[in-house]
Amino acid sequence: IIQIEDIHKRFGRVQALRGVSLNVEKGEVVVIIGPSGSGKSTLLRCINRLEEYNSGKIVVDGIPLDTTENINAVRREVGMVFQQFNLFSHLSVLDNLVLAQCQVRKRSREEAVETARQLLKKVGIPEKEGAFPGQLSGGQQQRVAIARALAMNPKIMLFDEPTSALDPEMIKEVLDVMAALAAEGMTMVVVSHEMGFARAAADRMIFMDEGRIVEMASPKEFFTNPKEERSRAFLSKVL
Ligand code: ATP
Ligand code: MG
Repeated sequence: IIQIEDIHKRFGRVQALRGVSLNVEKGEVVVIIGPSGSGKSTLLRCINRLEEYNSGKIVVDGIPLDTTENINAVRREVGMVFQQFNLFSHLSVLDNLVLAQCQVRKRSREEAVETARQLLKKVGIPEKEGAFPGQLSGGQQQRVAIARALAMNPKIMLFDEPTSALDPEMIKEVLDVMAALAAEGMTMVVVSHEMGFARAAADRMIFMDEGRIVEMASPKEFFTNPKEERSRAFLSKVL
């Protein structure tokens, strides 16, 4: 469902991606790890063209990321969750979930509210619909952010270190929501150093370093028998 072919991305003198190729199948969960600055976020952001790339090709669900029209079409199919929750602080939880549905999906308010309530139930905070983001814990805010992305019925979800801004006791509640989503068959590309989650939910592990994919393997293979010296060194630090 995602085809990435030889992507190169430069920021001035910094070569952030040096020829990354990757295919993600429908329903697959891919977890990307790697040291800071290795290009993980840049790669994720290229998938929905939040970042332009200098060369290479990306096709999402059969749509090449070339024209503005196609880029917008791809963005409608791809949900993204960031480390910072990026909720609208002046809107209630419910309105955070309703807004884009009405504007982008052209749903009626009633229909959008109905979808929003179902999703709040799904992420375990139905009682928070009237609260404002500032009144919620970090874990609750991140679950609202996930629900908001899901409200657009994405075919693919991208997660960029969704739990790294959270206190330890809130990490699990967010990972549980992600694991449930993975179990339902959502196609997911996740940048995360939560190795317990990766082990349990990933179909494939990717280790990036210096703008390249250094190793790609099943979690079992990757965690028990990493092939590359650099992945081994990194794993010994995070495990
Ligand atoms: P982290 O684990 O710290 O989030 P990362 O693997 O996500 O790191 P990227 O954010 O993709 O790394 O960055 C890759 C390289 O590109 C880094 O050297 C970074 O400094 C550079 N970079 C990323 N975004 C920009 C930008 N907007 N302008 C300039 N350089 C950038
Ligand atoms: Mg990053």
